[in-house]
Amino acid sequence: MDLEHVIASVLDMFEVRASEKHLTLVGSIVDGLPTHRIGDPLRLRQILVNLVGNAIKFTERGGVTVTVQGEPESEDLLKFSITDTGIGISSDKIETMFSSFTQADSSTARLYGGSGLGLAIVARLVTLMGGRIWVESQPGVGSTFQFTARLEVRAAPAVEQPAARPLASLVPQALIGTAAADDRARALSILIVDDSIDNRLLLNAFFKSLPCSLDEADNGRQAVDMTAERRYDLVLMDIRMPVMDGYAATRQIREREQLTGVPPVPIIALTASGLQEEVTECPAAGCNLHVSKPISKAALLEAVRRATQAPPASFGQVTVAENS
Ligand code: ADP
Repeated sequence: MDLEHVIASVLDMFEVRASEKHLTLVGSIVDGLPTHRIGDPLRLRQILVNLVGNAIKFTERGGVTVTVQGEPESEDLLKFSITDTGIGISSDKIETMFSSFTQADSSTARLYGGSGLGLAIVARLVTLMGGRIWVESQPGVGSTFQFTARLEVRAAPAVEQPAARPLASLVPQALIGTAAADDRARALSILIVDDSIDNRLLLNAFFKSLPCSLDEADNGRQAVDMTAERRYDLVLMDIRMPVMDGYAATRQIREREQLTGVPPVPIIALTASGLQEEVTECPAAGCNLHVSKPISKAALLEAVRRATQAPPASFGQVTVAENS
């Protein structure tokens, strides 16, 4: 995994919610920390989604920061900190936080934020990653959740993975509608997965002036089969579909990628308008980003740019700390 990608995708997911609440949301990775690691990016993302989701949910002023740093004990051991300036947690509650599933407000929490996993499951995932989790908090001031995880350092890939190659030129050309002929040589191959023919037509229209080759599937089962036969640069995945829905299809694609060691194809979920549960569930299923319906061309192209662009540093919100 690339830590920067994981952090960027989590921040990206909460960007809108944070800005709606006028909160800052910043991530930083300590300068010089090796970011290519061996580990399960989906599990790490689930942990972060839960902690960042809670932090935003329980904060009304100020903001949330996510930092990653090394631990002196071993190069493989990382420490993640999620700090908020929210309501804080009373000391009696802190003691049972990681051991109980039965919070009084768990159903409310599930509706409004986090991945729905709960801290007890987060703690189990952290343990499985060879780490531990703890929290320091002051009611009325804020909380800092910290966890460690053992993620072995891996040399950065010599060749940029195809799924993550830079396509910075794509969007500007799209917006001015002047895709040059020589760009067709590096056309993006996109699989559109949607049971509605109207939506497929709309998406086709959005990509019309771009250097893209488009394929279509009308349910998740077909998408799983088509992505096995051919490597796509991007999949646009509707969530609600007959035969197999977008979550199940994404999970199957991710499982296969893990088993076969194929680099993950970026998947953008197309979520129903106003359905926060869908938005929350998407990263847990393995989608990189989501775009809510009704889909605007600008939002879609921005998501495409993000999902297919290589340098995670350009994901806006990930800043690299000067030095710890
Ligand atoms: P859920 O969100 O599913 O209820 P969690 O285990 O994620 O379960 O969180 C349990 C409870 O801990 C929350 O309902 C909330 O009361 C408290 N909590 C978690 N994170 C924070 C935070 N950052 N600030 C304040 N309270 C928190």
